[in-house]
Amino acid sequence: MAKSSKPRLTKMAPAKESPEPELSEDESEEDVSAEEKEEDTPAAEDGSKKTFADLGVIESLCEACENLGYKYPTPIQEQAIPIMLEGRDVIGLAETGSGKTAAFVIPMLTALMDKPQSFFGLIMAPTRELAYQISQQVEALGSLINVKCAVLVGGMDMVPQSIALGKKPHVIVATPGRLLDHLENTKGFSLKHLKYLVMDEADRLLDLDFGPILDKILKVLPREGRRTYLFSATMSSKVESLQRASLHNPLRVSISSSSHQTVAGLLQKYMFIPHKHKDIYLVHLLNDNIGHPVIIFTRTVNETQRIAILLRTLGFGAIPLHGQLSQSARLGALSKFKSRSRDILVATDVAARGLDIPAVDLVVNLDLPPDSKTYVHRVGRTARAGKSGKAVSFVTQYDVEMWLRIENALGKKVDEEPIPKDEAMVLAERVGEAQRVAIREMKELHEGRGKKGAVLKGRKGGKRGRDEMDREEG
Ligand code: AMP
Repeated sequence: MAKSSKPRLTKMAPAKESPEPELSEDESEEDVSAEEKEEDTPAAEDGSKKTFADLGVIESLCEACENLGYKYPTPIQEQAIPIMLEGRDVIGLAETGSGKTAAFVIPMLTALMDKPQSFFGLIMAPTRELAYQISQQVEALGSLINVKCAVLVGGMDMVPQSIALGKKPHVIVATPGRLLDHLENTKGFSLKHLKYLVMDEADRLLDLDFGPILDKILKVLPREGRRTYLFSATMSSKVESLQRASLHNPLRVSISSSSHQTVAGLLQKYMFIPHKHKDIYLVHLLNDNIGHPVIIFTRTVNETQRIAILLRTLGFGAIPLHGQLSQSARLGALSKFKSRSRDILVATDVAARGLDIPAVDLVVNLDLPPDSKTYVHRVGRTARAGKSGKAVSFVTQYDVEMWLRIENALGKKVDEEPIPKDEAMVLAERVGEAQRVAIREMKELHEGRGKKGAVLKGRKGGKRGRDEMDREEG
């Protein structure tokens, strides 16, 4: 976040004129492109590819993109940015990993530089982690122009957030519940001069029942002179009614024709193994990937912790991430993983959505996800923004039906990874010992006298019973 309290936004020339788009005056949105070209990744070294300057992005923001290593716009950026710079409301159908954040931040900052003011833009996101990640991108892209950004999320003290609001930031990134809380209770805070509204992951916002809160927030935002962008991975009837309530004559941009599309550069495999040998094959797989960042997905909080202890006992740098950790413990776990002080993140699905961890090489579905949509979100943690990556799913005798359902939704057969049975079974004894250590420590943790405090340190609300630890919190 920029430290100075006075905004130092310089007035810049407006963005380069783009060619006149063919716009319909119809109130229903137009679909500018529903085609996805899989090879169209930002990393392509194709001389014919458009640059950010070609899209009409002003020089200082092109420079910020370059500093962040964004060489070429991603497909969603290529499609959305020119239309947004024309001043249109946009519905973006794109998932995390597509580069959608920069797609909406760049046009917002362009307009902010033209007419600097406080409380210029509001970005709403469904989860705290996503809100922090978005704010990091706002600050990174806005660093050359000294953009001030405040984050308002639940689970954190309200007072520092109120102080941040008192400094009159240009952009607010918020989860809806906490934003409404501040709108109702923080003296002097109002968004009546707001110019840009972004609703990110709108489908998720509505899945999490933020609908009534969004309605209340929308009521206190100005409609005149406000640009609105709505991003969503899927277009449900709920998202459509939110769109009708909040967007004006929008254009639709889409980079995915199916909600089950996985990104190019992702190698998907499955391993068919006996349930009782899951831990052994996991350790074997990790031995083959030492030094690479890995995310392991499990079904329950309990399993996340058991696996983290098991792996630590075997000398791996593993850290658990789940919804029963306090917000600061979750951020701490994530930053250790991001800074590579730990290579292995063991996570539940709370972590699957919206986490921006660019450098993950391998995703392991130790437990299969409960549905195919979650599968796509999980494996979307690798092979991001044009990089390559691998996802390995463990399928046991109990998971065959679920796996076939996932394959069916993907519309393709996933290749089987050969089972290195002999090599793996050599590990059986050591893994067995570590399993016993993990069981003992888990028992101690449940009894509230865990010596490995780090595992549960910062957990919300003190001691919890076994039942609660078996559930995942949304
Ligand atoms: P997002 O979909 O916004 O969560 O972005 C996913 C990742 O892609 C983030 O780590 C971004 O920093 C990165 N990214 C965004 N735009 C580009 C680009 N044009 N080239 C390379 N990486 C990008």
